[in-house]
Amino acid sequence: MTDDHSDTDESPDANTNANASADSTDEPDRVQVTVPDTVEFPRLLDFYERQTEETTEIVEFYDRLREGSLSTTECDDCGAVHYPPRIVCPECTSDDLSYVSLPHEGELHAFTEVRGTAPIGMTDDVPFAVGVVDLDGVDVRLSARIEGASYEDLAIGDRVELVLVDIEGPKEQDRVFYRFAPV
Ligand SMILES: [Zn+2]
Repeated sequence: MTDDHSDTDESPDANTNANASADSTDEPDRVQVTVPDTVEFPRLLDFYERQTEETTEIVEFYDRLREGSLSTTECDDCGAVHYPPRIVCPECTSDDLSYVSLPHEGELHAFTEVRGTAPIGMTDDVPFAVGVVDLDGVDVRLSARIEGASYEDLAIGDRVELVLVDIEGPKEQDRVFYRFAPV
């Protein structure tokens, strides 16, 4: 595909015709790079967001979840309910938003199974189910891991309820998240 001028062509005579006057016996320059034996995971690969006032604009969502309540933002100007919570209304760009509680039960709209490449903290759990849940009585559809049931156990339309997840580690952080489980 490439001709013999290519820098990446590794055939032994690749450069002999490129410049007939070049001294082809010269050793090419060498450089060295070093890769560490172990690599610390960047925080970006942590599935769970940092949940302090310094690290997220939606700390109230996590504070409420820590207290046992799933919530989200509602726009004071246009009434739109968002999920996940926002700091600016995507409908009318108002930043007058209030937190409102959400129902803790809903219906499984869709689901699938994670069999590999799970995030940090879940790699030992595969396979596990994840789903899309329609919460009761509100126009909120969210995705979540489905706890306590395998893919084979589930069916579209199944009733599910909120499960709180206390996240252990890193030790300086007190974090929570949510999953859903069959009722
Ligand atoms: Zn709005």
